[in-house]
Amino acid sequence: MEEVTYWNKEMETLPREKLEALQLERFRERMQYVYERSPMYRRKYDEAGIKPSDIQSLDDIQNVPFTVKEELRESQSKKPPWGDFPCIPPEEGVRVFQTTGTTGIPVKVLLNKADWYKHFYEQFMHFMYGYGIKTSDILFVPFGYSLYIAWWGFQAALEQAGVMIVPGGAQSSKDRVRNVFDWGATVVCGTPTYLLYLGEAAKEIGRSLADSSVRVVVAAGEPGANVPSTKRAIEALWGAKCYDDIGSTEISNFGFECIAQKGTHVIETMFYPECLDPDTLKPVPDGEVGELVLSNLCTESVPLLRYRMKDLVRFNKEICDCGRTFLRLDGGILGRSDDMFQFAGVNIFPSAIENLIREVAEFSNEYQIVVPKMGSGKHLKIRIEPDTADMAQGRLKKAVDKFVETFKYRITVTPDVEIVEVGALPRFELKAKRLIREE
Ligand SMILES: [Zn+2]
Repeated sequence: MEEVTYWNKEMETLPREKLEALQLERFRERMQYVYERSPMYRRKYDEAGIKPSDIQSLDDIQNVPFTVKEELRESQSKKPPWGDFPCIPPEEGVRVFQTTGTTGIPVKVLLNKADWYKHFYEQFMHFMYGYGIKTSDILFVPFGYSLYIAWWGFQAALEQAGVMIVPGGAQSSKDRVRNVFDWGATVVCGTPTYLLYLGEAAKEIGRSLADSSVRVVVAAGEPGANVPSTKRAIEALWGAKCYDDIGSTEISNFGFECIAQKGTHVIETMFYPECLDPDTLKPVPDGEVGELVLSNLCTESVPLLRYRMKDLVRFNKEICDCGRTFLRLDGGILGRSDDMFQFAGVNIFPSAIENLIREVAEFSNEYQIVVPKMGSGKHLKIRIEPDTADMAQGRLKKAVDKFVETFKYRITVTPDVEIVEVGALPRFELKAKRLIREE
């Protein structure tokens, strides 16, 4: 392992006792803050009969009502455009974003100067030092800048820290590949899907990304960076280390993978994470899968308390090889609780299927999972493209047979595999949508 670098060693290695004391102090302070400033939170807490002063221990936090995305949406549709949950007047905002709306009407988020220049900066400095990025690095950002938060904050913070930024918006994928070489980029970011797709674009212009100067690849927006075979595929393609980056528009940027690559750390000094049983909403023991619930401990504009992320995770509080005491999400985000589906009595994560597909060299990185309607008697269908158009039928058939066998063994369900032409499945620059539920 190369040398570990920290943004704030004292905070990142705080003994758990001290870390928890700090979380309690900050949670109480944030609860008081939202109670005083956010009409939505005041209403919620008054209705629940709970006051910030009632929080005497971390366990007491379990009595605080949850916040869900639907509430934010409702609040904004009643009082457009911002709703009544923000804690700052709109004129204090310097930057606005909206959620991607993959699960409904987008939620608008505004950030004041302190959040954009100080809190986002601090979050991304944890990421940057965690990944071992240095101010001498050159970051290429292959991303179309829009209302979506992806990479805006990462770029702004790294720029503020002194890293050279090469903007990669409004370019074709092939041009982006050319620019990675031309500008000598050493760090590239993207969704796992798009990072893999750039490999296809490179192939088409006769180049190999492994020949570039890129040494660090930062992947966000999908679980991929922590799906073992996807991580391996990205690392092999780029000849670089691939690290996970997790955040959301509403809650901001909370998780980074360190160079030990043993799970994704949560910045516990800035967030209070809980892992709860999705049915009972009570804490699950460390090491068990549960739904991630996060509270902002530092931000000012739209701090959210006990926000249900609907992501499934597994906590690991053992001290990491990097020395950080911040807990790790083993395997990163395992999937969305909304995406997990039941088929033939089995709970299936799309990421588990992705892992199997990307282990097969004969398949491209794209796929679709078609879940038939319950009771239709149809099999689960997996659509796959061959890796190359000229692949011999015999070789492809062998690969499919082996894939089906492995699938049956590992997922315990028999799938139908449909082979489609190379390039027939959609490519995604933002969040990929590969799960199709038949009505
Ligand atoms: Zn670590």
